[in-house]
Amino acid sequence: MALVVQKFGGTSVADIERIRNVARRVAKTYDKGDDVVVILSAMAGETDKLIGMAHTISENPNRRELDVLLATGEQTTSALLAMLLTEMGYPAESLLGHQADVVTDCDYGNARILEIGASRLRQLIQKRHIVVVAGFQGCDVKGNITTLGRGGSDTSAVAIAAALEADVCEIYTDVDGIYTADPNVCAKARKLKEISYDEMLNMASLGAKVLQIRSVGFAKKYNIPVHVRSSFSEEEGTMVVNEDSGMEQLVVSGVTHNKDEARITLRKVPDQPGIAAKIFSPVAEAGILVDMIIQNTRPGGETDLTFTVPKAEFQRAMEIEAQVATEIGAEKVYGDTEIAKVSVIGVGMKNHSGVAAVMFNTLSRENINIMMISTSEIRISCVVEEKYAELAVRVLHTAFGLDSDA
Ligand code: ADP
Ligand code: ASP
Ligand code: MG
Repeated sequence: MALVVQKFGGTSVADIERIRNVARRVAKTYDKGDDVVVILSAMAGETDKLIGMAHTISENPNRRELDVLLATGEQTTSALLAMLLTEMGYPAESLLGHQADVVTDCDYGNARILEIGASRLRQLIQKRHIVVVAGFQGCDVKGNITTLGRGGSDTSAVAIAAALEADVCEIYTDVDGIYTADPNVCAKARKLKEISYDEMLNMASLGAKVLQIRSVGFAKKYNIPVHVRSSFSEEEGTMVVNEDSGMEQLVVSGVTHNKDEARITLRKVPDQPGIAAKIFSPVAEAGILVDMIIQNTRPGGETDLTFTVPKAEFQRAMEIEAQVATEIGAEKVYGDTEIAKVSVIGVGMKNHSGVAAVMFNTLSRENINIMMISTSEIRISCVVEEKYAELAVRVLHTAFGLDSDA
């Protein structure tokens, strides 16, 4: 007998018929004798709909109230599933984030889980109840409702699995596993049998939204095996596991793209000590995350500095840098939102050279210009024009021998 945490994403609970399908799957696991805790997302499109509604009231809705509003999406599906299971004769009960003691910080819209007091969950499991927990939500120490950021139900699931020391956390979604590239972009993408936590952390942070990055962080920290699989088939999916569990180490195991960043350049910046601090401190103070940075030295004691920020923060970052440019005497600030970051990821890169050269040659053959480059031990990222993102993913996928028909 195992303790299984099962999370179902938005498309898996998009309407009553699909929630009924979820109920059948949950019941099947329960009938095998396993204990089941279910984490649900809101119905597909619901969170966007609620955000849209709030934006008809204000461009910048009150963050506390926005979280109260957004949490209703998951409240709805959880109640409906518990209701269906009860109708089917199973002892089921729904719990909202605060009832499951999901304690977070108070960063509305992007709250971090601090701890999960799992005593109520444990009591219900001991009584052989099926507990349905509303994902994506928690509450801060003052009892305010918070949400965990887009895709946050994945994190609810893995964090609850960790708190309960569950045997496995199953993530049911609209694809049947984790692929070498987004299967909706790259038709030749291959399903991976397994992937390491570190590779998945990179894939998630570089654009593969199949798992929220924080969920992978939890899984790695608490060594929770995560099984990503389809809600609509019985097929085995992909296991996200520890690197040293005897898995095959591909040089490149994934290609991702991310269109959520924009680039800002400060032209002809005086090349002096302290200038980078003047440029980056104000954006950091504004809570804006800077990702890639490049600096080019010009003759005559000047440099150009380019960096990327999330698209959502682009306007704010531009305003800040316009002021900085005046203060430090830079010639000009300009920005570009039509960019995409394309990345190749693989733990095998640690012991292989030449990966970067293959990447650059492949992009060059397609006449795709590389605007920025960054690397780490297990990934290489290039910023390219946004319109080439999908093409770049496909040609890199082929170049690294990942195509399903290769
Ligand atoms: P859910 O609503 O179930 O949480 P998401 O839309 O958040 O589902 O995540 C699933 C989607 O992730 C897939 O439909 C797919 O387009 C996308 N995706 C991106 N990269 C990958 C990848 N490497 N493997 C599988 N899916 C991916
Ligand atoms: N409903 C939330 C979202 O759409 C959380 C989730 O689905 O994981 O982002
Ligand atoms: Mg998701």
